[in-house]
Amino acid sequence: MKLAYQFKLIPTSSQKCRMSKWLDMLRHQYNYLLADRFDWWEMNRCSINACPLVCSITEPREQPEYYGQKRSLVSLKLQREWYKDIHADVLQDMVKRVDLAFARFIKGDSNGKRSGKPRFKSKNRYRTFAYQRVKPDCIQGNRVGLPKLGEIKFIQHRPIPDGFVIKRALVTLKADSWYLTLTLEDAGVPDNPTIDIEPTEANSIGVDAGLEYFAACSDGTMVEPPKFYRRAEQKLAKLQAKRELRKKGSTARRKLNHCLAKLHQQIARQRKQWHFELAGDLVGKAEVIFIEDLKVSNMAKRNKPKQDEEGNFLPNGQAAKSGLNKSFADAGISGFLNEVLPYKAARAGRLVVKVNPSGTSQHCAICLSRVPKELSDRWHECSCGASMPRDLNSGILIKKVGLGVRLTIKRESGKSRRRSPHSNL
Ligand SMILES: [Zn+2]
Repeated sequence: MKLAYQFKLIPTSSQKCRMSKWLDMLRHQYNYLLADRFDWWEMNRCSINACPLVCSITEPREQPEYYGQKRSLVSLKLQREWYKDIHADVLQDMVKRVDLAFARFIKGDSNGKRSGKPRFKSKNRYRTFAYQRVKPDCIQGNRVGLPKLGEIKFIQHRPIPDGFVIKRALVTLKADSWYLTLTLEDAGVPDNPTIDIEPTEANSIGVDAGLEYFAACSDGTMVEPPKFYRRAEQKLAKLQAKRELRKKGSTARRKLNHCLAKLHQQIARQRKQWHFELAGDLVGKAEVIFIEDLKVSNMAKRNKPKQDEEGNFLPNGQAAKSGLNKSFADAGISGFLNEVLPYKAARAGRLVVKVNPSGTSQHCAICLSRVPKELSDRWHECSCGASMPRDLNSGILIKKVGLGVRLTIKRESGKSRRRSPHSNL
């Protein structure tokens, strides 16, 4: 099992200076190696419909790859002596980052999902360097020993758990300070332990996540979204307006940028803390937690542009949608459902089960009959006497669906949504 613990570093000013210098040097080399790879592609390609003789003819050179670039570090240290200051492990990790960024662009990750073209990094986008290996006993009292940098004071706000060994160390410059992230590993515990719990009526809970109520649980608890971003919006706008008055590149503008970054960091931290606390509450309530299998990234898309016959653009409701998208981002539903909750549950030995969300808002949780609603109908009223907030109804239904109840999903026209495999023959 792997864990990542983050601690705040308290470096001396000379240590800060050295680490910033390292970041700068690493970034330059990162950009250089990336450019090297782009150059090779540029030189060695030829579009199908073009004559290769029109293209520049150069001596074919070896394609830059991970090991070749790693070997180039030797000559780099000879030509530019100041690179000797950086620990070899940290330099090699930088080459690995180039390789990873490029591999994701060309081949895609393990799921085959390709990323965009890697960018050359500006000062604000290169903020981390990593030691691939550190000594397991690098922590002594309130100091951590990092090769070449020496002993750095840090705040150990929680102990390293028993049985875990320190494997990697990452040093990151954030808006407010330097941070150390330690990767811990316990080889004795499997990565994805199989949790075998049979869900029953008594030990499970259904959770409906939304914007009106962040979480509506089948036991009746309703949690309102905290809206940290919305609350700070005025403050942000004020700072942004002030920044716009300052000249680009001026010290005053840089300082205001720093203030803004800190405010954004605060908002993100508030949200994260709140998510973890809520996840802890939910995990404490039941052994099996049923959630909707939502695609929030689809929900937060922009509306399609509408045009009339002459090609003029018509109102498409994007203004309202933008507001909604901001709320989606502010709530962070996707991060909560896909990362925080499963993580918390796994550590507590609980189970999170995703259920198909179709029909969970259009049926009655008590009698299971169909009660069609628009998105604006926030209250659920049924002829069987059920009367409750719409989200609570969904929460109860999600639990029922998770426990094996099947809803008959029909369209307005009465046709069944699921087509038989031969229907299009
Ligand atoms: Zn009913």
